[in-house]
Amino acid sequence: MRAMLLDSPAPAAHSPLRLIERDDPAPGPGELLLAVSACGVCRTDLQLAEGDLAARRLPLIPGHQAVGRVAAVGAGVEGWSAGDRAGVAWLASTCGACRHCAAGRENLCEHATFTGWDRDGGYATRMTVRADFAHRLPGGFGDLDAAPLLCGGVIGYRSLRVSGIQPGGRLGLFGFGASALCAIQVALHWGCDVFVCTRSEREQQTARDLGASWAGGYTDRPPVELDAAITFAPSGDVVIAALRSLARGAAVAINAIHLDRIPQFDYGDLWWERSLRSVANFTREDARDFLALAAEIPVRTRIEAHPLAGANDALARLAAGQVSGAAVLVME
Ligand SMILES: [Zn+2]
Ligand SMILES: [Zn+2]
Repeated sequence: MRAMLLDSPAPAAHSPLRLIERDDPAPGPGELLLAVSACGVCRTDLQLAEGDLAARRLPLIPGHQAVGRVAAVGAGVEGWSAGDRAGVAWLASTCGACRHCAAGRENLCEHATFTGWDRDGGYATRMTVRADFAHRLPGGFGDLDAAPLLCGGVIGYRSLRVSGIQPGGRLGLFGFGASALCAIQVALHWGCDVFVCTRSEREQQTARDLGASWAGGYTDRPPVELDAAITFAPSGDVVIAALRSLARGAAVAINAIHLDRIPQFDYGDLWWERSLRSVANFTREDARDFLALAAEIPVRTRIEAHPLAGANDALARLAAGQVSGAAVLVME
């Protein structure tokens, strides 16, 4: 197999990943071996490669939005056969026994492991995945289009739920990358009025073209008080701008595993039962629900394809804000 390996974090411009060849992994009991065809490039991969997100082990193959075909089935696996299409997402395993798992909140499991953080991920031509954490993908999406649904799409969907937005409500999206592109399509499907704040005028225009009622910059306040907001930009300043745009009783859902900081703000901004909530991972049920909804709407993704060996370029473009939609690595 070929893969892009992270030995030690470095700025994306310094090419932290290197191309390697090694023997294919063997699927352990309960696991699948996948022949990967495509893997999305997520901002979390960039934060890991650059060291903003501390590595859990090194060296490591990143990537947690992989699509492939089952190449081999480990002992004891039922329901999967060679050739089946499967998706691999961020949540790689949970304990199934802690109080969070027992309560249906496996995204909060204290013993969870993550793809491309604890386990080798999808920047590779082969990878293993626990069969019970592999996702079936709806038809209607090619492999490249399905890849960004597996993190950006599902986490955008969970963010909508965490934000408390109701059908027909006024929703603010702060930042407009791959995840927000999926979230806006779901919100419009629910009949919401969507207001988008993003730095890029190109992205503001994309938001309007997709059906946003209004789009402006981070320092422009949306023209109405929002019933809910989601922040996608990894910036605490943007979180506070979103908080100040909320109606009474409304929440900001922060879609970020790493944030630069939260700046000091006046308690008056939080008063009237406004709240800030983080969005941590997602459950397999979130993924099932979102993938079914994405097929029904249908959600359209915008992708730019890169060869596996070009993963450093893809990360550098993401770091520079040059990616339009989602970058996806193609394995051939
Ligand atoms: Zn991700
Ligand atoms: Zn657990």
